[in-house]
Amino acid sequence: MSEINKVLAILGSTGSVGQQSVEIAKSLNLKVDLLTASSSVDLIEKQARELSPKVCVLTNERNASELKIKLADTNIKVFGGETSAIKAISESSADVAVNAVCGFAGLAPAISCAQSGKRIAMSNKEAIVTAYRFLKDEIAKNGAELIPVDSEHSAIFQCLQGRASNDIKRIILTSSGGPFRGRNVTELMNITAKDALAHPTWKMGAKITVDSASLMNKGFEVIEAVRLFEVSPNQVKVVVHPQSIMHSAVEYSDNSVIAQMGVPDMRTCIQYAITYPQRCNSLSKQLDFAGISSLTFEEPDMNTFELLSLAYYAIEKDGVIPAVLNASDEVAVQYFLNDKIGFTDIFKVVTKVVTSFVNIENPSLEEIVIADKEARIKTIEVINSIIK
Ligand code: MN
Repeated sequence: MSEINKVLAILGSTGSVGQQSVEIAKSLNLKVDLLTASSSVDLIEKQARELSPKVCVLTNERNASELKIKLADTNIKVFGGETSAIKAISESSADVAVNAVCGFAGLAPAISCAQSGKRIAMSNKEAIVTAYRFLKDEIAKNGAELIPVDSEHSAIFQCLQGRASNDIKRIILTSSGGPFRGRNVTELMNITAKDALAHPTWKMGAKITVDSASLMNKGFEVIEAVRLFEVSPNQVKVVVHPQSIMHSAVEYSDNSVIAQMGVPDMRTCIQYAITYPQRCNSLSKQLDFAGISSLTFEEPDMNTFELLSLAYYAIEKDGVIPAVLNASDEVAVQYFLNDKIGFTDIFKVVTKVVTSFVNIENPSLEEIVIADKEARIKTIEVINSIIK
């Protein structure tokens, strides 16, 4: 097994991808110089004691004060607040930053990583969906690099192996179909947050698990693929593959398809983004082909799971619309998780907000941030109108 001499920063260390990144750091014996999270004091304390980073940041100030007391017997510096997190990123000497921050909040840390010339092992998809142009500019300007962590995009990245995107005929983006594959709208209406959180294959956080069940996640991934691999939306073909063994594929101009396979385990994708171009022993299991026995593929039901169609609409419109889609879904899913609205209400609410929003073409970063805020307000208004 080859030695990896890279210093790591883990942003969003207490979430699902963050925790798996900590496991990888331990298994590869990597030095970690920065951990950031929002508010989980006990978990980040445990991680800090295991990894001895120079700095820990909790964006929630009150929780940061608590952490500071808990870590008083160590040399670890503790800071609080989002500005401190950004400052810590820019001062960090890490070679690779795993960006596992949840939601639109992952954009500012991503830009800070780019500006400080780091490799971003990018798990946050919201920054790519909403404002990739700005991130890409900063990456190019500062000699930074982005390696996707999202399993499908990691697969596509691996299938491309440095080939130019103009060789691509289509990207085959696989989807497990979610736990409600095959159901119709009426059957989806009574689904509760608890039902939606029982995702069959990947181990993930609550928001993305709901997005996987609604296929909104797949929609975001279509947008992510369009942006990262510079293809047009009609070159991204979603295929439902319930076993989640083929993680995505690239079809070339000669109709050859190169796919990447493995057991569904995020640790493979996270680790590859860190160690690329090297490959190291992994914590994930080997594929047992005979044990799988069959791999199946089918068309996604884009009429029932209309948020997937809405994502194609959003990327065709582009401008601020992908940011509006992201913001509106983030709010609607939160209301669903709090049992305030039903599962199919997410579809209705988000579709209404996205299709009625006045677009701005070639928006500035500020205009994207404003659109994000406006979309959140609009979503709450639409929700209030259906709750009554
Ligand atoms: Mn994914």
